[in-house]
Amino acid sequence: MTIILAFFLTHWVLSIFAQTFFLHRYAAHGMFRMTPFWEKCFHLFTVIAQGPSYLNPYGYAVLHRLHHAFSDTDKDPHSPMFHPNLFRMMWKTKHTYDDYAYDRIAPPADFTVDIPRWDAVDRLGQSWIFRIAFGSLYFFFYYAFVPEGQWGWYFLLPVHWLMGPVHGAIVNWCGHKYGYVNYKNEDHSRNTLPIDFITWGELYQNNHHANPTSANLAQKWFEVDLAYQVIKVLLFLRIIRKNDNVPVWTDVGKTIAA
Ligand SMILES: [Zn+2]
Ligand SMILES: [Zn+2]
Repeated sequence: MTIILAFFLTHWVLSIFAQTFFLHRYAAHGMFRMTPFWEKCFHLFTVIAQGPSYLNPYGYAVLHRLHHAFSDTDKDPHSPMFHPNLFRMMWKTKHTYDDYAYDRIAPPADFTVDIPRWDAVDRLGQSWIFRIAFGSLYFFFYYAFVPEGQWGWYFLLPVHWLMGPVHGAIVNWCGHKYGYVNYKNEDHSRNTLPIDFITWGELYQNNHHANPTSANLAQKWFEVDLAYQVIKVLLFLRIIRKNDNVPVWTDVGKTIAA
């Protein structure tokens, strides 16, 4: 039982770190810079950490920039204000994400600049053979370590298979619906938890929409952004470096809408 729980928590933490650090703060926002070598390392890390639910940086970044530009309006790709429940919102989000991730629709050119692309790896990560093979590995791990008679643990397997979208659903739904506000933004963003130990900073949506260029999503003394603690270490080690010109996607949205 302990090994299954440890495996689940490890997968949860690695996957949310890949999402918040590489897909969100780096690919979508460019909150910091890194060399092409380290970019490729973290790109591969994201494939491995998210496994069968891998989200490619291009699709994620375009979707997320649109979210900032049109937050909680009818052009927002995933606002809970326009959907009766979480599942309907995520189903629409999946289709919009797929349109960009699989290059079916060209987004406004302004939203595509400076996004890391590695077509060979993205093709592999998005292939069904990879998704099924990786997903099978989780099953075999459970098969090997779930104690006899405790089959209830197998109910955790779908969370492993859908880890990326599960994190997205929590952040997109709760982060714009439940919690407190520090800033009066022009949207419904909320800080869901005073200490975000579930999504490593992603649930400080109200702070983030007010300060979209800040790599630290925590703003008050009692708030702790766990991913930012890792970012500070990576800055110290010079694996990443500061970016003094982080674009503000809300402004880009206003330009396009005008
Ligand atoms: Zn963002
Ligand atoms: Zn948001």
